[in-house]
Amino acid sequence: MSGFKDIERKQMTLGGKSIPVAVVRPLDRAPSAPSVLAGLARGMRLTLGVFLRPWKVVTRQYPENRQTLRFPPRYRAMLTMIHDSQGFHRCTACKLCEKACPNGSIRVITRKGLIDGVNKLDQYIWRMDSCMLCNACVQACPFAALRMTHQFENAVYDRRLLVFNLNQYAGPPAKVLSAEPDTGRRRQMMEPRGRYEGPLPINESLRPAVSEVKDAPAKDTPA
Ligand code: SF4
Ligand code: SF4
Repeated sequence: MSGFKDIERKQMTLGGKSIPVAVVRPLDRAPSAPSVLAGLARGMRLTLGVFLRPWKVVTRQYPENRQTLRFPPRYRAMLTMIHDSQGFHRCTACKLCEKACPNGSIRVITRKGLIDGVNKLDQYIWRMDSCMLCNACVQACPFAALRMTHQFENAVYDRRLLVFNLNQYAGPPAKVLSAEPDTGRRRQMMEPRGRYEGPLPINESLRPAVSEVKDAPAKDTPA
């Protein structure tokens, strides 16, 4: 009978204030027939109500409605690095986001600037497989270089495919690049970056790189 609960509502005094509380206890006896019937009637009332008024149904027919799906503005599905219309990011490689991440899902790799010798972003590696989308990295960034997107269809068969390189080029942020008038010199300061290819340490052992698994036949890999 552990599934049946007895709920007692009462007032408690806490810090001089009276607050309402609900005390839930498992029943040590079978519930009475009238209370079971009353619960059944409550459930059927809801079912019948939806049956008779189908326009009240809120179930979304996914994936058929993929084109019209709407998400709440604060819904978070994927971390992204913002790039402007010229393809420049704002990341200064300060690593504050890396420090803010509670579970080590970010690794910011830097390199010396090819021209000025100052540290620049080389690779911004984000592990979606361990990220819990808490948004702490976005909030920690003083340059508003990151944001969360609604891109939610990310299921894969191998977790190595859930590790991304978020910057499209290695080099200085938009502010520095825009201040450089010489196009050739500016191009010299940037080096294209694609997807992170690993290898990735998973469960303390090094696994092969992403390139070796992304074209492999679909099969689940034990964690
Ligand atoms: S959202 Fe949270 S867990 Fe994910 S990378 Fe950012 S700080 Fe780390
Ligand atoms: S994303 Fe922001 S916080 Fe993270 S390294 Fe770049 S500038 Fe710093």
